[in-house]
Amino acid sequence: MPRYRNLEPTSEFWSWRDQAACIGHDDLFYSAEDEPKGQRRRKEEEAQSICDTCPVLKTCRRFAIESEELYGVWGGLTEADRHKMAGRHRTG
Ligand code: SF4
Repeated sequence: MPRYRNLEPTSEFWSWRDQAACIGHDDLFYSAEDEPKGQRRRKEEEAQSICDTCPVLKTCRRFAIESEELYGVWGGLTEADRHKMAGRHRTG
């Protein structure tokens, strides 16, 4: 598990994930670097539709932004969304 600046990876810290709507859908939330863009986009849209139903969306989104999470869909934001918000360019 990666360590994040100012964030402790304790089980209490991660307890919000017990309510995550994405449990069991990891295949939709992460894409391989060499995955075709159309397929990646379709998976991201499906993942975002799951996020839209998630009771912990705000916590998840804040976590992803504060921890500068690079990969996957978190809190309804794609990798490209977060890179754009942070002023970075996605390379993959
Ligand atoms: S907001 Fe999306 S990525 Fe975050 S826990 Fe909920 S379903 Fe998972």
